[in-house]
Amino acid sequence: MTKYIFFTGGVLSSIGKGVTAAATGRLLKERGFSVAVQKLDPYINVDPGTMSPYQHGEVFVLDDGAETDLDLGHYERFIDIRLNKVCNVTTGQVYAEVISRERRGDYLGGTIQVIPHITNEIKRRVRMVGKTTGAEIVLVEVGGTVGDIEGLPFLEAIRQMRFDLGRENTAYVHLTWLPHIGATGELKTKPTQHSVRELRSIGILPDVIVTRSDYPIDKGIQEKIALFCDVDAEAVIPMETTPILYEIPLKLDKTPIADLMLQRLNLTARKTPDWTEWDQLVADVKRPKPAVNVAIVGKYVELHDAYISVREALIHAALANCVEINIHWFHSTDLEKEEGVEKLKEMDGIVVPGGFGSRGVEGKIKAATVARENKIPYLGLCLGMQIMVIEFARSVLQYDSANSSEFNRSTPEPVIDLMPEQHEVTEMGGTMRLGLYPCQLREGTKAREAYQQVLVEERHRHRFELNNDFRPALEEAGMICSGVSPDNRLVEITELRDHPFMLGTQFHPEFLSRPNRAHPLFKAFVHAVRERMEIKLEQQTEG
Ligand code: GLN
Repeated sequence: MTKYIFFTGGVLSSIGKGVTAAATGRLLKERGFSVAVQKLDPYINVDPGTMSPYQHGEVFVLDDGAETDLDLGHYERFIDIRLNKVCNVTTGQVYAEVISRERRGDYLGGTIQVIPHITNEIKRRVRMVGKTTGAEIVLVEVGGTVGDIEGLPFLEAIRQMRFDLGRENTAYVHLTWLPHIGATGELKTKPTQHSVRELRSIGILPDVIVTRSDYPIDKGIQEKIALFCDVDAEAVIPMETTPILYEIPLKLDKTPIADLMLQRLNLTARKTPDWTEWDQLVADVKRPKPAVNVAIVGKYVELHDAYISVREALIHAALANCVEINIHWFHSTDLEKEEGVEKLKEMDGIVVPGGFGSRGVEGKIKAATVARENKIPYLGLCLGMQIMVIEFARSVLQYDSANSSEFNRSTPEPVIDLMPEQHEVTEMGGTMRLGLYPCQLREGTKAREAYQQVLVEERHRHRFELNNDFRPALEEAGMICSGVSPDNRLVEITELRDHPFMLGTQFHPEFLSRPNRAHPLFKAFVHAVRERMEIKLEQQTEG
């Protein structure tokens, strides 16, 4: 029987519910249980794939091609698991399913209602996680905060699950925020009391309350919350903000949360957690290291969450290379106006991440020119690879109008073009080339050296690809197609022959990087970045 732990949030959004669920999952995995995590998103879009990154942050892609919430990235990275498409449910998916069944006649004669039809469909999807992943414990995070109108059907569904599955198979964790009043230097518990009251009025009694704060939380506060919210004092878990993300599981394991969860679920730990690797990781983060400066050139840079997996993958790779990474955000539209170009030239590395639409594209092409001409290590991710190809075709092959047909439909030199299977596609949602595809690596290339493997599988999310008509000319001029699909039809990785490290991937390697297992390509990129920094330092001291 699969056991479920439900996470709800109160007071504010963005207080780290996803990270807390992910870290709790890790604590349980360390005690010998197989775990999976699901996010319930109350918005009406079927998935975040059609939403602007400004609205939603990054779209995290899974092996099976599901386009999901960025919290799934936290789950996969913290717990070191691979999730599937049932692990992200939206109101849109639930309604689409119920309405299509109604049209088919499945409910003939009946009136379709939020309770029970919508709530039943939510419960079916929650139980699917246990069935499809085989996990013994499933952690379910309800998006938004208690009190949101659109979250009600989800809360009702998880409330019913205690009845359906039994008390020993369900646990409830509520996460809140303790505001700090500067004038008196106090942390206030009232908003927490209100949000727990709201939750209880829906019929959910939390077993554990995790309180987040930027300030230390003393025993007195914990006892006060326990008294007013009707939980044991030890079940009020203090979680103070830490600047080191990967320290959170370690900090959380100093609290009784995992033991309380296991007790509630009638389970006993099968092993004692082994935190050796994580302790090492945090020690490495804290140790002073030489610094490198890396640019991320994008058009959503105001919102760092839009590139969260890229940033994390860079941090993992920096740790693996024993350097401190300073990430500098460059707006691609600024580069179009020549703003920041000189500063970009001072960087030790340049990353051009994924993106859609023509805004800022010329600025990204400019960034690729800067990287190529100044021999600055460059890593292009999806769109970033396409940019690298366009730049090379324009500057080296002198194809002045080279472009992607995404940005100029009628260019005579479409070096990046729509994949044949995309020509007939008219719908926007879920119709790209999505998910895991194999890639074969060519002998004697930087890509092959990085992976130390012949065949790899990586996650994709794109419509366009390198146009094979231009492959011979590009290769002749010094661009190596170092990774291709096994049938050789699609170019997956490009790299430059005469450059310390200029490499682009049509896939998104950032989704598979782990804190203690940096992605091979990110690791190789940061290695090149480190070398450049060292050469620059040497030159400075000599000069
Ligand atoms: N817009 C490009 C395409 O669809 C790149 C997509 C991406 O960067 N994820 O091919």
